[in-house]
Amino acid sequence: MTRLRDTLPAAMLFLVAATMMLVLANSKAQSKQEKRPFGKTQDGQPADLYILTNNAGFEVAITNYGGTVVSLKAPDRNGKMADLILGYDSVTGYENGKAYFGGTIGRYGNRIAHGKFAMNGATYTLAKNDGENHLHGGLIGFNKRVWNAKDVSSIAGQAVELCYLSKDGEEGYPGNLSAKVVFTVLADSNALKIEYRATTDKETIVNLTNHAYFNLAGQGNGNILGHQLTLHAGKFTPVDAALIPTGELRSVRNTPLDFLKPLAIGHRIAQDNEQLIFGKGYDHNWVLDRTSAEALSLAAEAYDPQSGRILKVSTTEPGIQFYSGNFLDGTIHGKDGKIYPHRSAFCLETQHFPDSPNHPNFLSTVLKPGQHYRSTTVYEFSTR
Ligand code: BGC
Repeated sequence: MTRLRDTLPAAMLFLVAATMMLVLANSKAQSKQEKRPFGKTQDGQPADLYILTNNAGFEVAITNYGGTVVSLKAPDRNGKMADLILGYDSVTGYENGKAYFGGTIGRYGNRIAHGKFAMNGATYTLAKNDGENHLHGGLIGFNKRVWNAKDVSSIAGQAVELCYLSKDGEEGYPGNLSAKVVFTVLADSNALKIEYRATTDKETIVNLTNHAYFNLAGQGNGNILGHQLTLHAGKFTPVDAALIPTGELRSVRNTPLDFLKPLAIGHRIAQDNEQLIFGKGYDHNWVLDRTSAEALSLAAEAYDPQSGRILKVSTTEPGIQFYSGNFLDGTIHGKDGKIYPHRSAFCLETQHFPDSPNHPNFLSTVLKPGQHYRSTTVYEFSTR
C-alpha cells in the first residue's frame, strides 16, 4: 500500500499543473482595461484610448476625445472577431470629421428647428450648423470636446467614466451643465452599457446619445441593406423636408417605416415615399413601445444573415433615431485604410424626440437645478 508521504508530492504537482493550465486558458482573453495614447488635438491636448475587454474577448475602445466609441470587436457565428464600428485611427480624424462617428452627442441630440426654443418666457438662440437648424449640439458639440477620464471598473465589468463641464452659454444653451458618461463592457455578456448623467445650475434642455455607426459584417465590409432590422415601435415622428418633426405621432402601419417584424433594411428603402425622400433613406425617430419610463426596454434588433451577428439595443429612452448611413459616400477614409461607401453602416441613436423643446406634445427635455438627468442604453451582441 502506498503511503501518504509518497503520494502527497505527486498530488501537489498535479494541483500546480492544473492551476497553471487554468491560468493559461483564461489568459487567452482576460477581462482587462488598457490605456494608450490616441494623439493630440490641434490645440495640443492629449487624448487617450481606453480598451475595455471582458473574459470572452469582447473588446470596446473608447477615447476621451468626444466620448467616442472608436472600435467594438465581437465574434461572428464561427467565433471570428471583427470590428463593427466605423471610425478613425487617431484623434485627428475625429477632429476633422463631420459624420459624428461613435461620438457622445450633446447637449441636444438631433435637430432643433431654427436653433430656437423658448423656456420660462425667454427665447434662446443656438448655433445653426445644419442649414437653418441646430444639429447634434452645434458647431462644437460634446463629440468635439476633451473629457476627463477615470477607470471605474467593478464586478459588473471594465468601465471608464468620462466627465465634461459644458459652460453656461456654450453653443447658446443656458446653464453650466455637468455631464457624466460611463461606458461599461459587461463581465457576463458581450455588451456595452452606456449610462448618461447630468446636472445643471440653471434650467436648460438635455438629450444625450451616442452616434455609433454599426456594420455587423465588419467596418468597411459592404453595405447594410441586407441586415434585418426590428424596431419595437408602432409609431414614428414624421418630418418635413429639413428633417424637422411636424409634431405628429404617426402609425408605421402600411408605411415603409414598419419594422415591427424583422425586415431587410434595403427591402423598401427605395420606395416612392415622401418620408424616405426627405430622409434620403431612413433618418427618422421612432416612438418606442416601452412599458416603463425607468427600466430598460428592448428597442431594436439588427441581424446580419452573413456573419450571424445580432445586435440588440435596450434603452430607458422613449425614442430611437434609425439612420441608414445615407450621407456616407465613399469619400471618408476610416480605420485600417477602409473606405465607407453609401449605406455601409447604420445608427440606432436612443433619444428623446428631435425638436422636443418646440413641441409641447412631446416628452419634456427640460432639466432644472436639483434634478438628475439619467439615461441608459445597452448594446448587446450575440450570434445565431
Ligand atoms: C441625423 C442625420 C445626420 C446624421 C449625421 C443623424 O443622427 O439624423 O440627419 O445626417 O446624424 O451623421
